[in-house]
Amino acid sequence: MIRVTVWNEFQHEKENETVRSVYPDGIHMALARGIAGDQVQVRTATLEEPEHGLTQEVLDETDVLLWWGHKAHDQVQDEIVERVKQRVLAGMGLIVLHSGHFSKVFQSLMGTGCDLKWREADEKERIWIVNPAHPIAAGLPEYITLDQEEMYGEHFDIPAPDELVMISWFEGGEVFRSGCTFYRGQGKIFYFRPGHETYPTYHHPQVLQVIRNGVQWAAPSGTAAPVRGHHQPLEPIKSKN
Ligand code: ZN
Repeated sequence: MIRVTVWNEFQHEKENETVRSVYPDGIHMALARGIAGDQVQVRTATLEEPEHGLTQEVLDETDVLLWWGHKAHDQVQDEIVERVKQRVLAGMGLIVLHSGHFSKVFQSLMGTGCDLKWREADEKERIWIVNPAHPIAAGLPEYITLDQEEMYGEHFDIPAPDELVMISWFEGGEVFRSGCTFYRGQGKIFYFRPGHETYPTYHHPQVLQVIRNGVQWAAPSGTAAPVRGHHQPLEPIKSKN
């Protein structure tokens, strides 16, 4: 059983009628319904809960954390950011969605500014799978078409991804590294681009398939924690004299 926590800042849905019409009970609930299954148990957490719903206990019981944020990145307490980061380094998977590129959690784990180009013009996005052997691409067609999305364009200010799984093309001409993986400590991170709040992207079956695949990929490997520091030899060392 993989234990997933879906974190959403949950602000647009409360303030904007258009967003509420697409996600009546919040982006986190759409995601939770989209990824729950026999082997995946899902809980949700939001910004306004105490400790943003991310207590140490919740994180300790989380195998994979999903992160959607946009307008309230600066309201996320630094102490919680550090707590999430340490859990990732200790092996918790992290899936950062769409405007989460500017979250403190993602910036902290990347070490770069994470800025990009953007435009809201109801344009077509085509997400090309460029690493068809990757587990995150399992069961997907050669590309996914979203009829309307926000554009994100290069240059995306991230470190070179450990694996590039998807590249997006936009109707207006830009391209973007839209499916990227990173390894940090024992943790696995997947950044997945689509998901602007005014479009029904998280109701799209193939988008949800990508996120479900991401959950399976990012789940902890169960590898023993590495031992660091001064180390006694495992075998007797023969004197060279
Ligand atoms: Zn957006």
